[in-house]
Amino acid sequence: MIAPALRLVAAYRSGAHLVGRPTRPVVHVYAGPLTRTGQSVPGRGRPVCGQRTRRLTVMVTGGGDRLTVPAHRRVCRRCMPLLPAALGVDDRHELPVGRDAWAAAYSHLTPADLTIAARWCETVDQTHEVGRVIQIVLGPKPAGSPARLAGDRLAVHTAHQAVEDRRRRLAIVERTDAERAELRRIQDLDQVDRERLAATARRDAQVDRARYRAARGQYMPPWERDLLATA
Ligand SMILES: [Zn+2]
Repeated sequence: MIAPALRLVAAYRSGAHLVGRPTRPVVHVYAGPLTRTGQSVPGRGRPVCGQRTRRLTVMVTGGGDRLTVPAHRRVCRRCMPLLPAALGVDDRHELPVGRDAWAAAYSHLTPADLTIAARWCETVDQTHEVGRVIQIVLGPKPAGSPARLAGDRLAVHTAHQAVEDRRRRLAIVERTDAERAELRRIQDLDQVDRERLAATARRDAQVDRARYRAARGQYMPPWERDLLATA
C-alpha cells in the first residue's frame, strides 16, 4: 500500500482541495470544480470518500505552496486510502513498479511536498517508501552542513533529513511496542506459573496435615484419606 501521506501530497499538488464543514474537525479531500466564488463545493460534489454532507467549504486550496492542515482539524481517514497513487497523474491504486514508474508518479512533487509526506509517515515501512521517492525525485542528500546550504539544495537536504528523523522516531516507537508485547507475554506466563506453584503448595500443606493426623490416629474425613492414598 502506498503511504497515505504520499497520496495526499500528490493529490494536493495536482489541485485537490481540503474541504469540510466549518463546525466539524474532519477535512475531506475533494477533486473537482468549485462554485463560482471558489470557496465551496457545488451541491452535488462529493469528497473522495463519497460522504454526503451539507455544503462543504474549501479549507485549503489545492496546489498552493505548501500543504498545511488547519489547526484542530484532521484529514478524513476514509478519503486517504481511496486516493490513487498520484491523483490525475497515476490514477491506479497499485504500487508503481520500478524506478521509472515511481518517478512518473511523483516527479511533480516539490521538496516541500516530500518533506511533509516524510513528517506524516506512520510506519517505518512508509518512511522507506517516501525516502525512496525523495531519492528518485530529488536525488541524493547534498553533503555538508545544512548551515552552509541554501535554496534548492537546502530544501532537498531538509526533505532527506525529515525522512531520516521520522524513521528514527518511528523505529523507537515500533521497538517499544514489540518489547511491551513481549513483556506482557512473559508476565502472562509468570502468572500461570505462580498459580501452578500456589496450587502445589496448597496440596502439599493438605497432605502434611493429613499425614500428621493419620500418624496420631485422629479422625480423617474421606477426602483426606483419598489425598493420602494418592499423595
Ligand atoms: Zn472523507
